[in-house]
Amino acid sequence: MTDSLFQLTIEQAQARLSRKEISAVELTESVLNRILAVDNQVKAFLSLQPEAALEAARRADDRRAAGDTAPLLGIPLAIKDSIITKGVPTTCGSKILENFVPPYNATVIKKLGRAGAIVLGKTNTDEFTMGSSTEHSAFFTTSNPWNLNCVPGGSSGGSAAAIAAHEALGALGTDTGGSIRQPAAFCGVVGLKPTYGRVSRYGLIAHGSSLDQCGPLAKSVADAALLLQTIAGHDPRDSTTLDRPVPAYFDDLKRSHGFKGLKIGIPREYFIEGLAPPVEKAMRAAIALAESHGAAPVEISLPHTQYGIPVYYLIATAEASSNLSRYDGVRYGLRAPGDDMWQTYFETRAAGFGPEVKRRIMLGAYALSAGYYDAYYLKAQKVRTLIRRDFEAAFRQVDVIFAPTTPDVAFAKGANLDDPLKMYLSDVFTVMANLAGIPGITVPAGFSAGLPIGLQILGPALGESAILQAAHAFEQAADRHPPIPPI
Ligand code: GLN
Repeated sequence: MTDSLFQLTIEQAQARLSRKEISAVELTESVLNRILAVDNQVKAFLSLQPEAALEAARRADDRRAAGDTAPLLGIPLAIKDSIITKGVPTTCGSKILENFVPPYNATVIKKLGRAGAIVLGKTNTDEFTMGSSTEHSAFFTTSNPWNLNCVPGGSSGGSAAAIAAHEALGALGTDTGGSIRQPAAFCGVVGLKPTYGRVSRYGLIAHGSSLDQCGPLAKSVADAALLLQTIAGHDPRDSTTLDRPVPAYFDDLKRSHGFKGLKIGIPREYFIEGLAPPVEKAMRAAIALAESHGAAPVEISLPHTQYGIPVYYLIATAEASSNLSRYDGVRYGLRAPGDDMWQTYFETRAAGFGPEVKRRIMLGAYALSAGYYDAYYLKAQKVRTLIRRDFEAAFRQVDVIFAPTTPDVAFAKGANLDDPLKMYLSDVFTVMANLAGIPGITVPAGFSAGLPIGLQILGPALGESAILQAAHAFEQAADRHPPIPPI
């Protein structure tokens, strides 16, 4: 039975590969066939590398035959197009990088390669990862596999949809304000944003440098643990990475005590007006389930929650306006020639950037401008410190925090497109973790009208083990949803 291998989790595939019941080539062929069958509807991938993937699969089989037991040997993965891949087009969803083929690999890609993983292709993203729906991709919108008329979330919507539709066994995404967790929740998969500095940003296309982290999207918590374990760690090429040992996240799941004795913070400010009733109901059910398995829920307060969205959109746009100044048509990417240097800059940036990116460059440049720096940017940084302190105080009381990942389930395509503020509000529960630098995971927690709901579990800085173990305990206790969406 090689025709349904694409349905396997990484953990299951790895077991069968190591028993030599299946080969990496068979597994990769099955996933590539699945992509051929469904990606014309889902549109998760911006580009595919089928020959290179099969070649890598053959190499993986040879390595295994020679006794290699690397943890991801022969596992086909999807990579968000905001991550630099050597010799493989990397557009970040933008016309300005449409023909860009990088000459080097991001550190996370190098690490995946060493672990034996196979890159299938690059997944769709909102342009420069600015968005919550993939509708800001300069190329096309990805569809939610659970309902093709709905968005998959964003900006890692391509990676999330690819996992939900079983077009890859696992994926990488990047998260500046929720871009891993929000689409993972919308598509009913697991997504984890690590602690700031846990994973190297070398080779991630920068959005907000003090917020960006790369992390896994996966079919199960165990798979997310395995992927995180592979990509985490200190990198001399990223001075913000933490020089701390990487725990055996995957093996630690087996040693975990589950919910027994776990103190779970329930932040009052996250159960507010605007939270869709089915999402609130699913959250209450998740808390009750954890309690029935031995957890102790504790009501907590994160008093500066209401400032999350304004603070995030000041800091993220300020950093983005600076980061995006490098796209000037001189060194790489699109060049729209003008009569002189200035005109070349103007023409290139006018033609290469889409409307959301332009909006954010203007917002960010404004917040950083001489007359407004103190009133906006500096103020936002101060409130960011207060938000971080809210979490530090909370984690003196509790081990992890339970919260909704999103205020509602996936929305219809087009529903928020002409209202940027409404689009920004879909990040209301995810931006806090980026502002505070703490890790967060989303795990499927039910359905509403056929669309998935995500439970978000937040932990203290470097508390990835704690949130993985809580998410794993939840996954074990909850009924698993049907694994194949109706496409
Ligand atoms: N949706 C948020 C934004 O548009 C977060 C994006 C992200 O995490 N990359 O900025």
